[in-house]
Amino acid sequence: MAGEGSSKKETVNPKAIIHQRFGDKARYNIEEVQDNSSNGCPGLVIPQKGPCLYRCNLELPEFSIVSDVFKRKKDAMQSAAEKALEKLSDPPVEDASDQLVSRLSYLFSNEFYSICHPLSGHIRAALQRAGSLNGFVPISVMPIFDSKISNLCKSIKPETDSKPLEVMSIIRDASTRLSEPVLVSNEFMSLKRTTPYPLEVLESIEVDFDQKTYVKVLRIPYLVEKVVEPLTLDVSANTYYMDAIARELGAADASMVSLSRCIGKSSSETRLYSHAPNSYKWNKEDFEDKSYLNARASYLSGQDVYGDAILATIGYLWKSCDLFFEDVSPRTYYRLLMNKVPTGIYKLSREAVLAAELPPKFGTRSNWRGLFPRDILCTFCRQHRLPEPVFSLIVTKDAPEETSRCEVKIFSKSQNLILHCYPRESFKKQSDAIQNACSRILSLLNDYFKKLNMPREGLTLTPCRNGLDLDFYPEHISKELNLFSLVCKNILAIDDDTKQSNGVDDVPSYNIQGPDSEVFASNGCIVCVCYSAFLVNEGEKELLEKNDEFEFELGTEAVIPELEVVVGQMAVGQSARFKAKLPSLELIFAANGDPARVSSLLSSRGCSLEYSTTLLRVTEPLEDRMEKALFSPSLSKQRVNYAVQHIKESGATFLVDFGCGSGSLLDSLLDYPTSLERIIGVDISVKALARAAKTLHSKLSTNSTNPVQSSRLKSALLLDGSITTFDSRLYDCDIGTCLEVIEHMPEDQATQFGNVVLSSFCPKILIVSTPNYEYNVILQKSTTQTQEDDEDKNSAKPCKFRNFDHKFEWTREQFQVWASDLAGKHNYSVGFSGVGGAEGVEPGFASQIAVFKRGFELADCGDLAVVPYDVVWDWRSTDE
Ligand code: SAH
Ligand code: MG
Repeated sequence: MAGEGSSKKETVNPKAIIHQRFGDKARYNIEEVQDNSSNGCPGLVIPQKGPCLYRCNLELPEFSIVSDVFKRKKDAMQSAAEKALEKLSDPPVEDASDQLVSRLSYLFSNEFYSICHPLSGHIRAALQRAGSLNGFVPISVMPIFDSKISNLCKSIKPETDSKPLEVMSIIRDASTRLSEPVLVSNEFMSLKRTTPYPLEVLESIEVDFDQKTYVKVLRIPYLVEKVVEPLTLDVSANTYYMDAIARELGAADASMVSLSRCIGKSSSETRLYSHAPNSYKWNKEDFEDKSYLNARASYLSGQDVYGDAILATIGYLWKSCDLFFEDVSPRTYYRLLMNKVPTGIYKLSREAVLAAELPPKFGTRSNWRGLFPRDILCTFCRQHRLPEPVFSLIVTKDAPEETSRCEVKIFSKSQNLILHCYPRESFKKQSDAIQNACSRILSLLNDYFKKLNMPREGLTLTPCRNGLDLDFYPEHISKELNLFSLVCKNILAIDDDTKQSNGVDDVPSYNIQGPDSEVFASNGCIVCVCYSAFLVNEGEKELLEKNDEFEFELGTEAVIPELEVVVGQMAVGQSARFKAKLPSLELIFAANGDPARVSSLLSSRGCSLEYSTTLLRVTEPLEDRMEKALFSPSLSKQRVNYAVQHIKESGATFLVDFGCGSGSLLDSLLDYPTSLERIIGVDISVKALARAAKTLHSKLSTNSTNPVQSSRLKSALLLDGSITTFDSRLYDCDIGTCLEVIEHMPEDQATQFGNVVLSSFCPKILIVSTPNYEYNVILQKSTTQTQEDDEDKNSAKPCKFRNFDHKFEWTREQFQVWASDLAGKHNYSVGFSGVGGAEGVEPGFASQIAVFKRGFELADCGDLAVVPYDVVWDWRSTDE
């Protein structure tokens, strides 16, 4: 279709021109891009909706160029062609020089004096300068605060982009050609209007010259060993702030100060100021003396900064003619550093520098708190001045439904591939595919940055192929990584060596206080806590961080391990106090530590980090909420009732609950009089087992009012182990239950469990329940209205499974094939049933159940003693 001369408006068709000039040598590559509209505002939760967008990469013999992003491929190609033409025909240099001259004369005009412009403030302030420098404006500020000047300089000499000093001489040369004469100070690289401004122009702007104002700034010494140091600058209206900065830097004059680009947000006016070397003026060559490179300042700005630097938030803006300024504290500095690594970006987005951790995996959109992985990745790229990541979705239309995979590429500014992630996992929702891929990348980057902190491995920047789905070419950002390893030693905190010695893996001591409301959180719940973190030393306390309402999903490593463990043990309403691993100094400062107090507390031994926290609320996972809301009695209750029914009918005395979790079945069983004498629960989650022990204990120790009393129960045992391996204590039970467990294991392990249980544990009866996938449509239909923030309004597509921890959910057919195969193989019979819904009514039961019955007599096998499981709790009746 290209070049086939469709007759309309083809006169200015960039693609046609490119075709004329390059023919087949011009190659257009189209890439699909996810809608990036949320990038301007990364905090927003913006759904991935609407059609895919396209970006075009045009390869020409000398260079290649990437288009903007468009809805139509055609537009993307035209945009690439247009950009290529621009590049091929930058304005002729002479033209640009003339434009520069006229821009300069405008800057020194009466009109410019009284408008609000980032540069006009400098022109006005220059008139406050004392002595011979009165009225002189440093040339260095001109290209910084007027983008027209800097663009014109760029087109006169393209290298100026990387060599800011060249700009100076271009402007100085242009200024000699002004018709309205401007004084050039050769010594001080400054310009001054020759004719004074008329009085009415000067009076057009009101300034209160008597007001004294001060701003806090930070000195960042070029020697990394020296700490950053707070300073106060006098920036009263009768001074020029650049002079105040020059004084601090020991520079002769404001024109000897070089300014970095904005740090952090581009609108922040937070910049680094440094002393330009003396050779600055005429001889640019020996300027870059590497020994004075300020690694911290260079890392922050992404530009080379030499010598000591001052970090300040100050400048003139468009919206007001007054000087704008804000204090910069050490906290600001450490937060800027944090904002360049994935965990740091996440912690800041959660406003929980000490407590939050970037979860290693993306679970569900509705349970995620803080910036989403994709937004973190975009922020990361922006912070490192890399182009936006390129997302390509690969949609597979395989039956039964459409799924997507997402590939992500990150390029350097010069279009070298830095990272390519191509996970094979598919998702029903495109946004899940993207978030998961980004999450994968973030983990890699975090690990990589952490490794850089370790002195030995620090500087080996070999390309690495990470696992099967990720290629990383760190050599293309080696400069950044080198600086990082010099600068941010500890910003990622916790190195694994100290973690062990500090006893985090031992049982932490926390004292839980308050009445037991019996409402606990389990993994997958959203918990809401309040907490305060203090630095404590011999009764002295410094508050570092405090959050009144802080939500996170339990079990996803979204907070420091100590907090996660403690919250898992608390009931709603209870409070706890516990010690946690001491974070790095950098993190403490980035939180809210007063540097002087913190240093003095830390200087003596025995300093520790102490948290106090209260569990405010628990929101159960969607699955639990659905099971309660949509069924009466709740679906879990119905499963228990089903099991109880079988226990009664069979007259069982020995029961094993495989994957007992926090003991909901065992607990309920104790409410009914049964023939049971011995019960065992097994699970791999120690946390769940601890909770099970607690409930069973309280039930078994309360007397009289309990039906248990009339029961014959002699022992109850809780074991920690995987039900895919054999333990002889579970051998030959009368009834085994395995309720809603198999879907939490990968399919092959579910089958392994099936084989082990029927061939080795050999229960007389085994009841296995698992969700019926076909029933999900009904669940989802009735929950979509109540589900506040599940986004995709355009597609009513449900999330894949009922619970994000599910590894699979089977249809009736899949389940029946699985169960029948097992039964056939191991000489069991099997029948099918379920709870929730009714027999024979589509789409079947909500929970499907298989009941296996042993078809053979067990030979007495004497003393088997295979006991890999650990005893977590062992109760015996005392009534004998
Ligand atoms: N049966 C309980 C818990 C269901 S949740 C109930 O109906 O309430 C699933 C449980 O399976 C979790 O507690 C999980 O820890 C456990 N589990 C998953 N894989 C396991 C394995 N290989 N061995 C033992 N337990 C496992
Ligand atoms: Mg489940």
